[in-house]
Order: sequence, then structure tokens, then C-alpha cells
Amino acid sequence: MENIIEVNHLRKSFGSLEVLKDINFNVEKGEVVTVIGSSGSGKSTMLRCINLLETPDSGEILVNGVNVMEGDINKHRSEVGMVFQSFNLFNNYTVLDNCVLGQTKVLKRSHKEAVDKAHQYLKKVGMDEFADKPSTLLSGGQKQRVAIARALCMDCVVLLFDEPTSALDPVTVGEVLDVMKQLADEGLTMVVVTHEMGFARDVSDRVVFMENGVIVEEGKPEDIFTAPKSESLQRFLGRFI
Ligand code: ADP
Ligand code: MG
Repeated sequence: MENIIEVNHLRKSFGSLEVLKDINFNVEKGEVVTVIGSSGSGKSTMLRCINLLETPDSGEILVNGVNVMEGDINKHRSEVGMVFQSFNLFNNYTVLDNCVLGQTKVLKRSHKEAVDKAHQYLKKVGMDEFADKPSTLLSGGQKQRVAIARALCMDCVVLLFDEPTSALDPVTVGEVLDVMKQLADEGLTMVVVTHEMGFARDVSDRVVFMENGVIVEEGKPEDIFTAPKSESLQRFLGRFI
């Protein structure tokens, strides 16, 4: 199988705090990998290193076979889409412009081409009827769906999600998870940090469990959830019963 992401011996510290300790991690084309683990275990830092929002101290990260430290950072950032807990939409812009800006500025697409693509992906996430609305008027779930459309407009080869539903009202969590499930079914390569164990169990192909900056255990959801091997994973899962 073709690896979209390859992380080899990744290390990252903040001052004297070693947050990622020799992380090795691959994601194949079309795979949906969920990353679970307690708060502070290094999940966000791992995603942020893959997207180069943080600079790794050592190790290498390959996306589509290209070492991200050596390639064009703008190309890399458009190939590796990121969806944040806090949406990070441009609040002074409409829904449509949120999806158009990166395409015209970074990918140098014509305005018309960018608008066509934005409508295409806004339709996919069920937000096209809001295209002309300011993003500030949206609910959290709607903002998150726009954030997903915005990332897809950049033709990303993999989409990273960092707790995409943690900041949402319980009522709107489902609409975002439904969109994510639809993208998974369509074969998008995804890495999803989440506390939604239902999503991890039912939608992902593989679950990675992190604790204290290391990947303690990984495997198919049925093995992870029914037969966790390590004591720390058993303890972690015990909280969700
Ligand atoms: P998780 O996403 O699993 O909750 P994080 O990757 O956010 O974990 O954080 C791992 C550890 O790194 C935590 O102890 C956190 O406080 C620390 N950390 C994260 N980012 C920074 C930063 N920019 N500066 C200093 N410490 C940080
Ligand atoms: Mg986090």
C-alpha cells in the first residue's frame, strides 16, 4: 500500500518538557486513523508537526513521499488540510470567501475557478445555502462544516482533524460527524484526534493510542476496544464505559 504520511522517529520538546518521544506512524492512502489518549499526551503536537505548525526537533515526516522539511511549505500546507477544535474561520468574511481566499492566494486559482470549487464543496457539507452569510452568524457545527469545505477546496491529500467536535454544542456534534463519515466512505485519507469513541470504533480503520508522548498501542478498532493489551489503554477506555 501507498503511504500518504510517514512519520519516522519524530521528537519534539517544549523547553525541558519532552512532548513527543520517538513517534513512528504511517497512514495509507484512503485510511481513516483515529488518535485517542488523555489530555496532554501529545496528540495535537503530533498533528501540528505533520502540518509544520510546529517544527520537529528530529526525525522525518514524509507526505506523499516528500520530506516536509525540504519541500515547498505552501504546497505542503495545502496538501495537508487541518480542521481545528476552534474552527479558525476568517470572521470578517463570508462563508464563500472563507473557501475562496486560500485558493486564489496560495494556489493562484482564478476567482471563478475558486468560486466554483467552493460551491462544490459547500454543497458536499450541506452549507452552500449559507455561502453569502458572514461566518460569524453560523452555529459551531455549521462553522466546522465550512472549515472542512475550506480544507477540501485546497485539494488536500490528507485531512487532519484535531478534536473537531470538542467545542460543539451536543446537538451539532452529529452533523459534523456525519460529514466526516461521508468523507471517510468516499475514500478521503483522514487522521482524527477525537474523544468520540463511537466514531473511532465505527468509522476508523485503525486506532492509535498515545500516552505521555509515545504511541503505546495501535490496531483495528475491534481489537483496541474489545481486547486492549496495555494497562494504560485499559485504564483510558475504562473512563468511557
Ligand atoms: P494533547 O493534544 O494530547 O492534549 P498536546 O500536544 O496539546 O497534547 O500537549 C502535550 C504537552 O505539551 C502538554 O503538556 C502541553 O502543555 C505541552 N505543550 C503543547 N504545546 C506547547 C507549547 N507551544 N509550549 C509549551 N508547551 C506546550
Ligand atoms: Mg489536543
